[in-house]
Formats: sequence, structure tokens, C-alpha cells
Amino acid sequence: MSIQISDSSETSDSLKSLSLIASHSHITGLGLDDNLQPRPSSEGMVGQLHARRAAGIILKMVQNGTIAGRAVLVAGPPSSGKTALAMGLSQSLGKDVPFTAIAGSEIFSLEISKTEALTQAFRKSIGIKIKEETELIEGEVVEIQIDRSITGGHKQGKLTIKTTDMETIYELGNKMIDGLTKEKVLAGDVISIDKASGKISKLGRSFARSRDYDAMGADTRFVQCPEGELQKRKTVVHTVSLHEIDVINSRTQGFLALFTGDTGEIRSEVRDQINTKVAEWKEEGKAEIVPGVLFVDEVHMLDIECFSFINRALEDEFAPIVMMATNRGISKTRGTNYKSPHGLPLDLLDRSIIITTSNYDEPEIKTILSIRAQEEEVELSSDALDLLTKSGKETSLRYSSNLISVSQQIALKRKSTVVEVADVKRAYLLFLDCARSVKYVQDNQTQYIDDEGKVDISASA
Ligand code: ATP
Repeated sequence: MSIQISDSSETSDSLKSLSLIASHSHITGLGLDDNLQPRPSSEGMVGQLHARRAAGIILKMVQNGTIAGRAVLVAGPPSSGKTALAMGLSQSLGKDVPFTAIAGSEIFSLEISKTEALTQAFRKSIGIKIKEETELIEGEVVEIQIDRSITGGHKQGKLTIKTTDMETIYELGNKMIDGLTKEKVLAGDVISIDKASGKISKLGRSFARSRDYDAMGADTRFVQCPEGELQKRKTVVHTVSLHEIDVINSRTQGFLALFTGDTGEIRSEVRDQINTKVAEWKEEGKAEIVPGVLFVDEVHMLDIECFSFINRALEDEFAPIVMMATNRGISKTRGTNYKSPHGLPLDLLDRSIIITTSNYDEPEIKTILSIRAQEEEVELSSDALDLLTKSGKETSLRYSSNLISVSQQIALKRKSTVVEVADVKRAYLLFLDCARSVKYVQDNQTQYIDDEGKVDISASA
């Protein structure tokens, strides 16, 4: 089977899709120093030092590429930065390490089976760096080193060959000499460069006797090409994911399916062949496996079959690091009748390393809110920021963060570009937070339809 690979440029971006999620757009890394120690506030990340230090170790593990097939669970209360931590990790990894993010619930909403969806997510998180030798392409630059110059007085220099528009231009030293030759120059060949016109001619290998130089006149200088094959091939490295290789080898529409997302189920024989081929490439030194990170948010939404799949897939030859996040305490594992910590079966929990996040204090909330305001280009008065911080502490960071843009709209209505306390208060009254919403429903329970689809008409009458 001949395996096709796609070009890297579009694909590495798609692997980072979740980084586009606006609520985390202020996060550009984990905010660690060179020793992987967290700075209090850096790269958009604030506080949560313990969790960030732990994430720094995971970052190192992934970058070393040696440790894959590990499960990491990030557990903590809502809005405590679990997803933010994963986003920070994704940003710090750089573009050549795949990072795939899915929400547990997505697995059930796709048109493919749960295990196929998980397999695809796993294989999106494995990068294959493929080294390919390609012919020199027009417009690309190749550099060769001149080992000696022939005419007296010329210094050794660098000969750069540039090809543009079917014309080859030679550059000697740093000086560009316009010339042309469509001939290939080989090692040992002598080329002459006419100083006045810059014209370059190839004189062949035999042109090495001093009387031949003399015959060319003083305005010509000569350079002998270095020993060894002139570099006319170059190595190009593509980074693609295993999933991309699967897709373009499994459907007639090839790589287009990568854009439509309509990949369908991929046959296991195709994957087996690809695994064999990739293993061969690895053996031959043509490819390097780059285990990346698969981030599963709301992991408690997965069911027991998915968990058992993950357990097995982690032992696969090509396995990424699986990072899971949950805000659940002791809760039921979906598809079973038993409860367990975070809703995860004990065997998966047992093989996971666990990072915990905790609620923020007021100064941290304030810093995060002011970073968010900057990100959303909202100017807050200092009192308005204090009030948002207070509401963030009493309700949730996410609710307060949402109030920033709402308050701005209210401020704009009164033709002010600065959000003041009154704007925040109005936004707070207009939009309920979680606790007030629960209270409202409790107080007005009779007006709502219950689980059985009934409304208590007598009570509301
Ligand atoms: P949930 O359990 O509800 O999914 P979560 O723990 O994943 O919540 P996030 O979504 O990461 O919480 O955080 C809520 C918001 O606060 C996001 O906009 C996030 O970017 C921001 N945020 C959280 N923690 C930090 C932090 N340490 N530094 C900067 N921003 C943060």
C-alpha cells in the first residue's frame, strides 16, 4: 500500500482548534519561567500555582516525547481554570506537537460510533514528522559552501543559488550577481562570473588549466564548485497527525474530508496498514512519532464503555497523553449504577495522575477580570472592577467575566466608553447568576413544567 500524507500547513492549525475559544483567548501559555516554575501572573495565567507547576512537568514530558500513554485528571470546582490550564499547555507545546480538545458530550453527538469518535480523537493527537527529500523548487533557496576560489586574490565565500521563475541566480558572497544558467552545476565544475555583466557560465570540470583562465580575460573570475554532490535536493519535514493519514487513505475524496469533517468510520484494516507503514518509516529514520495531548473536558459525561476504551487505548503503541477535566465529586459513572470519585471508574482513576485546582481568592479574581477586560477591549472604572470582583467571589468567576461585555453594552447606551459601577449593577440585575436562578425556579416552581411534563395549575391559580 502506498500511503499518502498531506501538507502540514493547514493541519497543524486544525489540531489547535480549541485555542480559538474566545473565553480563553487571553491565555498564551502556562506562564512558567525557564525552570518551569509558575510566575504569579504571566501569559494570561493567574494564580493556581500548584496546578500550573504540575502542568509544567506534563509539558516537559510531552516535549521530551518519551512518555506517552499516560492519563492526567484535572479535578476542581467550576470556573477554577481547568480548561484554562489545558489551553495554556496547548499554547506552550508549540505548533508541532498535536493538541486535540473535545468535550465528553461530543462523543455522543457525532454520526459515528463512540469508539470511532474516540479513536479519531486519539489519532488526531499523535503527530508524525515525516522527512521527505524533494527536488529544488523554483523560488526556494539552497546554500552551498565554496571550498576554494581559483583566481588569485578571491576570498573563499558562500555561493547561494536561488531559483526564481525558471532562471537561476547566483550570489557570490553577499553580492548578488544577476546571471543565468539553466544548467546544473556539479561538484568540481568551474563557473566563470563576468564582473561587468555578472553573467555566469559553466565551464565544466576540465576547465582547470591556468591558460584557460588567461584566455577569459581579467574581467572574469572563476569559482570551482565544492567536492561532493551539489545540493539540489532538500529535506522537508511535514508534521501530520495519524488521523489525517487515515482520512486521506480511506476515502476517495481524500484530504477534502479533512475540511468537511465528513470522515465517516475508518476501517480498522486501513489503520492497521498505516500503523505498519508508520512503524517502518520510523525504523528507516524517515519518520518520527510525536505523541501529543488529547484533552477531554467534562470527562464525567463519558460512559463506562468509553472509559474502558480509553483504558485499552492508553496501552496502544501510538498513544498520546490523555488529559481529562471534571468538576464532579462523588458521582455515578454513566452506564453503571455505582458511584465513584469524579464519576470515573476506579481502574482509570488508578492509572491517572491527578492535578487539583481550587477556587480563587479576590486578588486573583480581580487580576483575571482585568485581563479579560483588556482582552475584550472594555475600559472598567476601578470601582466597577471592584464590584465585578466582589460578584466573582460571591457568584462565580465565569458569571462576573460574562458581565464585563454586558456592562459595556449598558455603558455604551448612555454614550460612555468607560464602564461604571451603575452599569455593572444594572447588568447584575438584568442577568441572573446560578444561585439566583435556582432560587427563582424554587420560588416559581409551580409555573414550570416538571419532569413528567405537568404544570401544577391548581397551585398557580
Ligand atoms: P468548568 O468546571 O465549569 O468547566 P473550568 O475549571 O474549566 O470550569 P475555565 O473555563 O478554565 O474553568 O475558567 C473560566 C474562565 O476563567 C475562563 O474564561 C478562563 O480562561 C478564566 N480563567 C480561569 N482560571 C484562570 C487563570 N488561572 N488565569 C487566567 N484565566 C483563568
